[in-house]
Amino acid sequence: MRKIFTAVLVFAVFGAAFALSASSVAAQDAAKPARTFEEYVPWLAQTGLDLTDYHIHLRGGMTAQKAVERARKTGLKSGVLENCGRDWPLSTNEILDRFIAEIEAYNATLPPSERVKIGIQVNDRDWFKTIDPKIYRRLDYVLADTMIMGVGADGKPQKLWLLPKDYETDEDVWFERYFQHCMTVVNEPVDILANVTYLPDFIADRYDELWTEARMRTLIQAAIDNNVALEVQAESAFPKPRFVELALEMGAKLSFGSNNFDDVLKDSSAWKATIERFEIKNENLWRDVNWEAAK
Ligand SMILES: [Zn+2]
Repeated sequence: MRKIFTAVLVFAVFGAAFALSASSVAAQDAAKPARTFEEYVPWLAQTGLDLTDYHIHLRGGMTAQKAVERARKTGLKSGVLENCGRDWPLSTNEILDRFIAEIEAYNATLPPSERVKIGIQVNDRDWFKTIDPKIYRRLDYVLADTMIMGVGADGKPQKLWLLPKDYETDEDVWFERYFQHCMTVVNEPVDILANVTYLPDFIADRYDELWTEARMRTLIQAAIDNNVALEVQAESAFPKPRFVELALEMGAKLSFGSNNFDDVLKDSSAWKATIERFEIKNENLWRDVNWEAAK
């Protein structure tokens, strides 16, 4: 994890113009049957990859204990987190302190190799100015996405996935603002960027046109410069293969995440497809700051 204080300067440059927020909470398709990750165990073992799922939300009945049980069965390590921000479960430093302390206490009962990584998903764009630095230092990683931008008609942070498919706006102006928002987030002291190149429904069909190679390169280079992982998420359509290919070619690191809503972990076919298509090796995987210490 990078020093939080450098980010204050970055915020002054990129963030001051907007009051932005982000979250990777997407609409849950409850009707879709979830496959268990165990199905992938034989395949995962054969890849030789030392994988960590860095996007396990402790919500909907999911617990650190269950994550550890899964790790014992699958060999897939765990990073657990919850949403942090004014309108989110971890809304104050006190609550965040208790959240971390509970996982730390559980970790203390485990051998180092079995301990879960502790993270947060940050949803307010000034999070690094409000978080207690002492608490920040206890985190293994910070995850963000770009799916909340600006404020909606109700004065609340605008969750982009709630915009109607027929949302009326100047799309090119909107996208330019969104691209700057993506650059703001990737320059925060975050470690993982989830749902990279996400576009809401109203504009998603213009993906190839709007996400030009030049814009992709700018975003990827910032991720590389800041050691920010680009997440491949179970059941997310973003980022598209074209982006992943370019990111790997440029030397960016990937992380893999579930983004679960309950204790039934998601179908991870998207991970498998990416790993096989791009012949992902351990050197392509992003590692948190305490990775070696846990071995
Ligand atoms: Zn999430």
